[in-house]
Amino acid sequence: MSRNEPIAGFAEIVGAEHVLTAPEERRRYAHDKLPYANFRAREGALVGTLPSLVVRPADTQELRRVVARAAELGLPLIPYGSGSGVLGGTIPLGGEILVDLQRMCRILEIDRENGLVRVEAGMNGGAFEAELNALGYTAGHLPQSLTISTVGGWAACRGGGQESSRYGKIEDIVVGLEAVLPDGRLLRVRPLPKRATGPSIRDIVVGNEGTLAIITELTLRLWALPEAEEVLVLALPDRPSALGLARRIMQAGLHPRLVRLYDERETAARTEGIAAFGERPVMANIVLCGEASLVAAEAALVRAFAAEADAVETEHRPFEEWRAKRYDSISKLWQDRGYYNDTIEVTVNWSRAAALYDAIASGVAAIHPQAHFSAHWSHVYAEGVCQYMTVRLPPMPQAEALPLHARLWQLLEGETLAHDGSIAHHHGSGLFRGPWMDEELGVGMDVLRAIKQAIDPANLFNPGKLGLPARPDAVDPYRDRGDHA
Ligand SMILES: Cc1cc2nc3c(=O)[nH]c(=O)nc-3n(C[C@H](O)[C@H](O)[C@H](O)COP(=O)(O)OP(=O)(O)OC[C@H]3O[C@@H](n4cnc5c(N)ncnc54)[C@H](O)[C@@H]3O)c2cc1C
Repeated sequence: MSRNEPIAGFAEIVGAEHVLTAPEERRRYAHDKLPYANFRAREGALVGTLPSLVVRPADTQELRRVVARAAELGLPLIPYGSGSGVLGGTIPLGGEILVDLQRMCRILEIDRENGLVRVEAGMNGGAFEAELNALGYTAGHLPQSLTISTVGGWAACRGGGQESSRYGKIEDIVVGLEAVLPDGRLLRVRPLPKRATGPSIRDIVVGNEGTLAIITELTLRLWALPEAEEVLVLALPDRPSALGLARRIMQAGLHPRLVRLYDERETAARTEGIAAFGERPVMANIVLCGEASLVAAEAALVRAFAAEADAVETEHRPFEEWRAKRYDSISKLWQDRGYYNDTIEVTVNWSRAAALYDAIASGVAAIHPQAHFSAHWSHVYAEGVCQYMTVRLPPMPQAEALPLHARLWQLLEGETLAHDGSIAHHHGSGLFRGPWMDEELGVGMDVLRAIKQAIDPANLFNPGKLGLPARPDAVDPYRDRGDHA
């Protein structure tokens, strides 16, 4: 096959202007926001390869034809939302074709009676939420990356928004969907309340990270914007009492829109000059919302629980400052100054949360005396919590830093598994978490491999991600790392 043959074939489907072949355009798509890839980029190095081309279908029919054509030619594909993923999910490992879905960007239907919205997968999250807000609604999925991610990317990665305590993670918000399978067929899950018809097909697609199906359309729950809100900023004596307060709130069945607890380090960075944190160095921000009478009742209960936890209520400034910047990213700042900054989010049951934090904090200090470690807890559930951790190495040559960075990941993921937690809460698994997937899922990983083999026997959809096999011609993404076997 000549190099131009696939290009001509795809141009026939989507139009020549929507097939990108120039090296600088392909380079733009060759990485997402995986910190490891960004460290390598400082030295001009790629973790994977360039995509062989980028194809931008306008709608589901074009996408199905692109998938069918790629299958005929035996060429692998990676669906691309907007590349805000932090696990390397869209990084090509062997010149895969990137299928950019951002032309599929419309709200298709607002169903007020059933409280549902149907939206194309490539719609930008910020544009989607703004359109809903203008109509008096929210989908309730508000990741920090809202304005740089797509709706399809949220579902593909099983993401979590900042208001997950009230609205749930994306898997709780997706009611129906459409997706294209590797053989070009369209899979449809109708948006019904609940069913009992065998295992959930929806849940095979949600979280598949482009390895099994390309999501073209989602039907999500829709909520009226809340009429009332009450904010509580609390200073607590220590981490266990803050975690205990969050557990109490969720186990009492309350529906806070926000629960954010910060360890001592992250509290100190946000509360300068506020006296309450002198004696009580751990902050909790709790926001209740909804119908005014329910908000008043829930706020009274939270205040009673807070008093039992020896918390004092203080000024709202830290919360307001967070809210004003809730969709900003600070990691670029560290990147520009030569630091090695990374964030890792895991889940753990309440009974193991405090011990997990302590084990990791001491382990980080042993890896490098100047390594930064801090954490907050901003997704809370009746049975446990997401621990969102920041680790940061000071500027140093990459040959020294990359093996230390690998040890930090091994520590954080390894301790999480040792504490019976899950290695990922909302960023997905992508490329970088592949090495831990067998330990995470156990026999479940064999089930996942069998599903992949059955749906995608030629390994055409996002090969080498989610811990699934790469293709024989794949590059080793860790070939430059000093610890590499
Ligand atoms: C500063 C910052 C803050 C972040 N904050 C959050 C947060 O609060 N919560 C959170 O959950 N995540 C967060 N993330 C991670 C990231 O934004 C999410 O994972 C997001 O859901 C990815 O969406 P995307 O459209 O950019 O997907 P991409 O990065 O383009 O793709 C991610 C993966 O999904 C696959 N994929 C994309 N679209 C589809 C589709 N339509 N069908 C099938 N597979 C598809 C890709 O192949 C890839 O494997 C953050 C990232 C950054 C950089």
